[in-house]
Amino acid sequence: DYKLEKAEEDRAKLQPEEFRKKYKINFSDLPISYNTIFGLEKRKFIKMTEIQRCTIPHILAGRDVLAASKTGSGKTLSYLVPLVERLYVQKWNPLDGLGAIIILPTRELATQVFEVFNSFTQNHDLSVGLIIGGKNVKYEKEHMKGMNVLICTPGRLLQHMDETPDFDCTNLQMLVIDEADLILDLGFKEHLNAILLNLPKSRQTILFSATLSKSIHELSKLSLKNAEHIFLHEVR
Ligand code: ADP
Ligand code: MG
Repeated sequence: DYKLEKAEEDRAKLQPEEFRKKYKINFSDLPISYNTIFGLEKRKFIKMTEIQRCTIPHILAGRDVLAASKTGSGKTLSYLVPLVERLYVQKWNPLDGLGAIIILPTRELATQVFEVFNSFTQNHDLSVGLIIGGKNVKYEKEHMKGMNVLICTPGRLLQHMDETPDFDCTNLQMLVIDEADLILDLGFKEHLNAILLNLPKSRQTILFSATLSKSIHELSKLSLKNAEHIFLHEVR
């Protein structure tokens, strides 16, 4: 297509450094803070993967995004980087309360994302909570007030919405639903609907999935507004 041809033309014409900047190939080509870039570099995350190149600029621009790419393509940083950056730009602090919620289908996946989050955000001042079943719910309730980012499973998040007096999402900036196909496969559709009813409408919403289906599109209609659609590879 035209864009690809233009890029190939530019690759031949421009200095490698100029080309890299124009086509935003590295994380450091993005308009993001050094706090984030240095955190990523420490983990040896230098070049973006394709899904990261295609989605991060849209998410940074504040748009809703529905994105699908296969497992292992790098979806986690596709949303974590702009999420951290959005709160950083807004000078988010503990008094601002809950700024972002990330929903994953299982405890294991939520724990992995929690670890990725902590691995590159040491230069940032955000408090992040892992909210999954099987952990001490009383402890979570007592510490809910100071949390800026929650990484959670649908059931446990709903439990806090119902039971925790300190759960306050009125300032919420961003909602991420990751591994959305698996969330629906595991039967959490009603949980998601109930969660969406509890969240402020003014938020930015990001939906990531490894596969596409009618139910993913339904969920996207229910949760996203004027979304960018980014589908890579041979997604079903
Ligand atoms: P997905 O959610 O699409 O299945 P992940 O976000 O779990 O993919 O990433 C898959 C693997 O790729 C992880 O081991 C992660 O550390 C690695 N990875 C992600 N982004 C990059 C990158 N930009 N550079 C190098 N490795 C990366
Ligand atoms: Mg993933």
